Amino acid sequence: MKYNITCIPGDGIGPEIVAEAKKVLEVTGRKFGHEFAFTDILMGGASIDVHGVPLTDEAIETAKAADAVLMGSIGGDTNTSPWYKLEPSKRPEAGLLKIRKALGLFANLRPAFLYDELSSACVLKKEICDRGIDLIIVRELTGGLYFGERKTYEENGIRTAVDTLKYDESEIRRIAIRAFEIAGKRRKKITSVDKANVLDSSRLWRAVVNEVAKDYPDVTVEHMLVDNCAMQLVKDPSQFDVILTENMFGDILSDEASMITGSIGMLSSASLNETGFGLYEPSHGSAPDIAGKNIANPIATILSAAMMLRFSLNLQKEADAIEAAVKTTLTEGVRTKDIAAAGEETVSCSKMGDIIASHI
Ligand code: NAD
Repeated sequence: MKYNITCIPGDGIGPEIVAEAKKVLEVTGRKFGHEFAFTDILMGGASIDVHGVPLTDEAIETAKAADAVLMGSIGGDTNTSPWYKLEPSKRPEAGLLKIRKALGLFANLRPAFLYDELSSACVLKKEICDRGIDLIIVRELTGGLYFGERKTYEENGIRTAVDTLKYDESEIRRIAIRAFEIAGKRRKKITSVDKANVLDSSRLWRAVVNEVAKDYPDVTVEHMLVDNCAMQLVKDPSQFDVILTENMFGDILSDEASMITGSIGMLSSASLNETGFGLYEPSHGSAPDIAGKNIANPIATILSAAMMLRFSLNLQKEADAIEAAVKTTLTEGVRTKDIAAAGEETVSCSKMGDIIASHI
């Protein structure tokens, strides 16, 4: 079977890590009898340099016509890059917001997983890390505070600003359904995170999640206040399987969850729409400090490609094969600089891709 994949190499280390993910996908395709046809589009700084805007309408059309989108990362050094002298709507990140909106990507999935081989990188106490970390945050991505009405004004000479947090039940229901479906394929536990002791939007969130739960009797649901969840993530992350939450809480908690594993170069992510179409990218940024040196860790992007096979193309065996190849590579002690212990030998970005591909 042939699959059309739109690739967004982007900026900084983006082109280097996407090249390794393509390499691994090509080998996976050969092994399992599929063809992956890649079409690159420009986004972020790379698009600004050529077209003057971070994402063109033509690029969006190319992405829409594909079976899925695989991205590296976008953006430059926010202190020194000329891209950040442009008005906010013309900067690299505006491209990401535009494509999320154009593709209707309302569900953001961010797994946080601690490999035994990298447990020394975990920032928590050893006895906590030893219990394991294997959770996924399902974050609502197109509603809530970041998309509500906002204004800044003066009242009696005092500068005042207001942001609005609004959710309707359909927005909550569709993300909840997505989370329950994912939990059903994992350890069957959902922690729905809100601030229902204070916010009306959270009380509606909790009510709708409880309604959806009735359709998934094999999944256990608990509700947790966001402040408690932030604490529990560092106290005992092993208690979590699927964390379901709204946009802003998810933004903060997903960064916290990914940082506790200690390996930003290892963490994948997916953003999906209602049909299962998705954009897949590593959780990290474009790492301008190491761009062009062939030392970046491509594993987060390679694991994002595995997520793409699993969630958008329904190729489970193929996704398993990529994840197993990453695990074997780590077990062999192969390390890029960011995940190497002091004194350990390291390999380049392209070598890491070669070795993972060889284990498919
Ligand atoms: P960053 O994630 O790019 O880098 C943080 C640190 O982690 C750096 O030291 C970097 O070298 C290291 N790092 C990140 N990925 C790595 C990898 N794969 N291998 C080895 N080391 C890695 O975060 P930042 O420096 O705050 O942001 C840089 C740029 O990326 C900014 O322009 C920011 O806006 C952008 N950004 C883009 C995305 C995205 O494309 N979705 C996400 C986050 C940040």
